[in-house]
Amino acid sequence: TLRGKTALVTGSTSGIGLGIALALAAQGANIMFNGFGDPTAITKLQADTAKEFGIKTSYHNADMSRPQEIELMMRAAADEFGGVDILVNNAGIQHVANIEDFPVEKWDAVIAINLSSAFHTTRLALPRMKANNWGRIINIASAHGLVASAQKSAYVAAKHGIVGLTKVTALENAQTGITCNAICPGWVLTPLVQKQVDARAAEGGISVEEAKRKLLLEKQPSGEFVTPEQLGALAVFLCSDAAQQVRGAAWNMDGGWVAQ
Ligand code: NAD
Repeated sequence: TLRGKTALVTGSTSGIGLGIALALAAQGANIMFNGFGDPTAITKLQADTAKEFGIKTSYHNADMSRPQEIELMMRAAADEFGGVDILVNNAGIQHVANIEDFPVEKWDAVIAINLSSAFHTTRLALPRMKANNWGRIINIASAHGLVASAQKSAYVAAKHGIVGLTKVTALENAQTGITCNAICPGWVLTPLVQKQVDARAAEGGISVEEAKRKLLLEKQPSGEFVTPEQLGALAVFLCSDAAQQVRGAAWNMDGGWVAQ
């Protein structure tokens, strides 16, 4: 059980982050949500989650591309919960274009949100984890943290980068109760991927269902999407005592993507 622990999950108003936050809540962890979305829906999410699992919840709207806002979020977590025991660096965006056409501001945004934000949350979370001699840092990388695809330069660079940051964080804390690991999902049908499916359907003049099938077949041998619930279960395992010696891993859950 994770009762009494506090988890901060960045980008947890949608998709994978939401799935992981709910899985940790189900184990009794208090949750600080973060991410964009309709304020009324977010307030309801907070209240419903608190009620369903008998935990405390909170929300901070920090923009993960802004280090100062990340500092404010970490301070709020300290004020409201005494600090963060489980840090899940999940917030991320995608942009698809050839390198010579890649908008410079998109490159900067992808690197800031998908990579640098994890450096900032980690550096601010570690002192309290060290004082407690317990902590779990889970970085949501991607199959693109291990292998590449064309037209995803910023994303692939950021995800390879966060796998590297994961290893350094694990090593610097190897003789403590703090572990750091990366999870490398394959395709998960979240709004981030739905956008890519819709773009393919429009470009190819094919149905959305056909575009989904094609997208999966290109990369994911199982032909099925990974789900946020499955990723939540892996995050719960990485938080358990049984995972105490899983350190610096880049653990793929990808329907066989990187086995090829
Ligand atoms: P999503 O678009 O459903 O959710 C992204 C979340 O991040 C949302 O809550 C959004 O509000 C938040 N977010 C975006 N920009 C932010 C910012 N600047 N500051 C704060 N929050 C911000 O996407 P998802 O598919 O659930 O992706 C979550 C993570 O999983 C990302 O890091 C993504 O790269 C990774 N991932 C996704 C897939 C996939 O197939 N969907 C595969 C591998 C890895």
